[in-house]
Parts: sequence; structure tokens; C-alpha cells
Amino acid sequence: MELFSYSRAADVASASSAAANPDVRFIAGGTTLLDLMKLDVERPRQLIDINRIGLDKVERLPDGRLKVGSLVRNSDLAHDATVKADYAVLSEALLAGASAQLRNMATTGGNLLQRTRCMYFRNTAMACNKREPGSGCSAIEGDNRSLAILGTSKDCIATNPSDMNVALTALEAMIHTEGAKGAREIPIGEFFLLPGSTPHVETVLAPGELITHVTLPAARAKGKQVYLKLRDRASYEFALSSAAVVAEVSNGKFSFVRVALGGVGTKPWRSHEAEAALLGHPANAATFARAAADAVKQAQPQTENGFKIELTKRCIAHALTLATQGA
Ligand code: SF4
Repeated sequence: MELFSYSRAADVASASSAAANPDVRFIAGGTTLLDLMKLDVERPRQLIDINRIGLDKVERLPDGRLKVGSLVRNSDLAHDATVKADYAVLSEALLAGASAQLRNMATTGGNLLQRTRCMYFRNTAMACNKREPGSGCSAIEGDNRSLAILGTSKDCIATNPSDMNVALTALEAMIHTEGAKGAREIPIGEFFLLPGSTPHVETVLAPGELITHVTLPAARAKGKQVYLKLRDRASYEFALSSAAVVAEVSNGKFSFVRVALGGVGTKPWRSHEAEAALLGHPANAATFARAAADAVKQAQPQTENGFKIELTKRCIAHALTLATQGA
């Protein structure tokens, strides 16, 4: 690990202005950053501790939206009474991630920016375009069983590892930030970037831009929500495939539906194809199968992860079944 300096920010403005240099990192829970620093993958010159700048509340806004501070710990968010009642898909996704100890430390903002688990990204002896732009991608001809089948490029096939991000995508979260150019709000669908030829650039955040909070639209009174995660073992494991579903069924047909996928995309993957195959159609097994097939039509499997196509189809169909039971 390289030497770095450490300071504590007193408020959002001072944190943001101090971090305008690309060698500076914010630190909150540290559950990803410290690991990567020990591995020499991240080598910041300066850490700015943002744990004491507030941003740790979950609040209902007057218009019915939910505001989640970026420093709300994953455990607190998962067990928040409003989140459990109105945004169950988010609570389920958070509890499906990591371990209890990690969830107690990890924050909402940190989870949004979680780095990939591609083994080559974490090994400085191997070529990796995301870690070292232009060095190559060891995964394409290497161990790629856990990596992406959607949104890949010839330069990177790494998956976004977060469960929370999948649920936030299905809920159409808005990401709120503060930076040198002031405050802005970014729909989650525009927040993450596809790897293309610049896989080291993962989001639209500018240097020093700080995520202050996330807002969720007012809960849909009749909507049902499910997060289904398929993985190699039952806990403390990343998704091979996962599906977040928010659905409303009226007179036996989908009147509203959002489907997002995890473990298969280079970013949290909103499946507009699945949604188009579901909306206005009967909530039955034939529709689910059609939507699941449409969701993976564009999939580009690598040498070892072709099984994810069938796995994802089954994951989507089962999540839809669970979300519409009794409808
Ligand atoms: Fe690096 Fe992406 Fe290739 Fe993994 S898939 S080795 S993160 S460039």
C-alpha cells in the first residue's frame, strides 16, 4: 500500500472542493476502497473521510418520495420500516448482499460506486483495461464464468457486482450530487456507463462530485416487488444472475412493470425488452417465458459464462411468478 494523507471533511462543500483532484478519494465505510488499496489497485494520495458530514437519514418527502442519505448504512436502510413496507425489493436486495458485518459498514453512496469483482481487476500482475487503460483484458480469454453477457465490449466484460444497484434501477432511483458545478440529479439509468473503449470510466461523476442522497419515487400502492438472486452459495456471494421486479397487475394483465437484472450486465441492467413483452399482457407463464427470452436476446456470452443465458431466463420467469402470485 502506498502512503496517503487522511483528513476529515466537516461538510459537503469542503469535502467536494478538497476532492477535485483525481488522486483523492472519499472514504465512508471503506468496504471496497480499503481492500483495493491493500491490493495496490487503488492508490489515492489523499483520503477524505466523509463520515461526519451528515447525510445519514432516511426521510419521507412531502411529495411522497423517499430520500436516502448517501451515508445511510446498508443494514439501516434494509431494516428501515418504510423501506421494508414500500420498497421491499430494495430491502431484499440489500440483505442478499455481502455479510451482516459488511452491511453494517457499507453505505448507500459507496454501494452505488462498488467496483467489479473481476479477479483480474484485483490482480496487478494481470492485464486489465479497467485498472490500467490500454493494457488489455485478461478475462476475455481467461476465467470469465462470473462475468457479463450484456453490455460488454471488446475491452471489458466485467459485471457490476451490486445487488442494491439492481433494486434501485427497478425503482427508477434518482442520484443527487454536489460538485464544482453545483447540485445535480441524475436518473440511475444515466448514472452508470457502458465500458466501451473506456472501461475505467464507470459513472458520469466528475472528480470531486459527491453523491449526497438518492430519491425513490412515491411507492405504488398496488405494486408487488421481488428481488431474486441466484448464486453459487446461499450467502456472502455475488450474483450469477439476479432479477428485481416491480409489478402491478390489473384484471390479470400487467398495468405497470419494471425489470432490472444483476450479475449479467456491465452495469445494473434495466430490461426494457422484458418490460415491453410484459406490459398489457396476461400475467401467466407463457408471458413470463417470452419476456425472459427477450431479455437475453442481445446477450453475448464468453467462453465460460454461456450458462447465464438460461439461468437468467429462469431467474426472470421465477421472479415474475413470485411478484404476481395471487394477482
Ligand atoms: Fe479488467 Fe474488465 Fe477485463 Fe476484468 S473484464 S480484466 S475488469 S478489463
